[in-house]
This record gives sequence, structure tokens and C-alpha cells, in this order.
Amino acid sequence: MRRFLIAGNWKMNCGPGETATLISNLKQRLPSVPDGVDVLVCPPEISLTTAADELVDSKIMFGAQNVHFEDNGAFTGEVSTKMLTEVGCHYVIAGHSERREYFAETDQTVHRKTKKALEAGLKPIICVGESLDQRKKDVHDTMVSKQVQAALNGVDESLIQDTVIAYEPIWAIGTGETATPEQAQEMHNMIRNVIADLYDERSAEAVRILYGGSMKPHNAEELLRQTDVDGGLIGGASLQADSFAEIIEIAEKLS
Ligand code: PEP
Repeated sequence: MRRFLIAGNWKMNCGPGETATLISNLKQRLPSVPDGVDVLVCPPEISLTTAADELVDSKIMFGAQNVHFEDNGAFTGEVSTKMLTEVGCHYVIAGHSERREYFAETDQTVHRKTKKALEAGLKPIICVGESLDQRKKDVHDTMVSKQVQAALNGVDESLIQDTVIAYEPIWAIGTGETATPEQAQEMHNMIRNVIADLYDERSAEAVRILYGGSMKPHNAEELLRQTDVDGGLIGGASLQADSFAEIIEIAEKLS
């Protein structure tokens, strides 16, 4: 039985001050985290220690938006898995489409980050998804399965249950346009089959597959009702305590 994971990707929003305020609002709006739902926030790196302080007595977890695949060294501007675990991160996002597009992330770097994160005890949230052009050309299945295969290549079976996949159709991110529940279910099921082919059915059933792309309180329920949708990676709606909490409450109702 997979638990819902509702994860907020704050992107380049909220320095330490705003992080403290948003977390405080969220804790007020949601005094206890529902039993059936894992809740995660991913602020920018500079705000991670603030998140750690603000969440010390809370079941809300926090994670990072990126990590480097080397242990340390001359990689200006980067952070390592050790640095993230030192401040208490539980999760790290790998290969968000914005990082693939603007910061030259490739399937290969996403793969290396995934392996490094898992070795360090961090749960990677591996983002995959097709562009509008790829969907129009009907190559979305091929594209997304290639991304999943590349990211998981050589990941030990014992670590697969700590891996999270986020299916995020690029055309739905920050656009207000959402995949239909049927489109989401079809892609999530396809991803689960790819994992079953790489490992086995049991491993595939253990992996949580999140939907990301304009998930909001008004469309969360129909998406989260799909058999293979195990939660959401939420951008815009995670920046307001009310809308994020509403999605968490919907997940609780369905759990
Ligand atoms: C995201 O950034 O992962 C995302 C899904 O953003 P939004 O919810 O704003 O579309």
C-alpha cells in the first residue's frame, strides 16, 4: 500500500524570512499532518536551515531542489548530498524540466544524482515528462520511458522503494493546463510497467509516482483518485498555505 506524498516545489521563491512565514502559516493551517499522507516542502537551498528550524517539531518533511553528483570539490555553486543530509533533508528533486531546459541537466546527470542521493540516504524525486511537441508527435511514451530507464540504470533493487518518480508533462507546468486524469493514469501506469520490466512487479508496486503540472485544489481530487497517482509535485499552489493544505486534505480523504 503506497502512502500519498504531497510535495511542494517552491522553485526560486522564498528566502529564509519568507520560508519561516510560509511554514508557520502551513503549520497553523494544518496543525497535524494527516496519518495517511507524507508532506514535503522543497525551499531554495539558502532557506533549508530555516526550514529545519521551523519544522523541528513537525511531521512535515523538507528537501532540496537539486544536488551535485560528486562528494565535494571545485564545483562552484553546487551542494553535495552530505551537505543536504547534514541539515536534515529527506528528499531531493532530480532533473526537474526547468533544470533540464535552463541548466543543461541530461539523463546522464539525472542518473548520477539519483544514484548519489540514494547512496547518501536521500530519497530522489526524479522528474520526467514530455514537451507539447513530443506529445503532438505521439512520442511521449518513448521519451518518458527512456528518461525513467536512464535515471534508474544500475540502481540496486534494494533502493528502489526509496525512489520517487514525478511525471510532469512540460506543457502543464506553470501553465494552468493540466493533464486529464486519464492521460495522467495512462502515463503513470506506463512508468510503473517500465519499472516492473527493469526490476519486478513488487518493486514497481512500491515506487511512488507523483503527478506534477498545475495541480490545484480544484483538480487534485480527480488526479489523486487515479490508481497509479500516488501524490503530487506542486509548484504554484504550494506557495500558499491554504491551497497546499487543501490538496493535502484531499489526499487524506482519499487515503
Ligand atoms: C513543478 O514545478 O514541478 C510544477 C508542477 O509546477 P506547477 O504546479 O506550478 O505547474
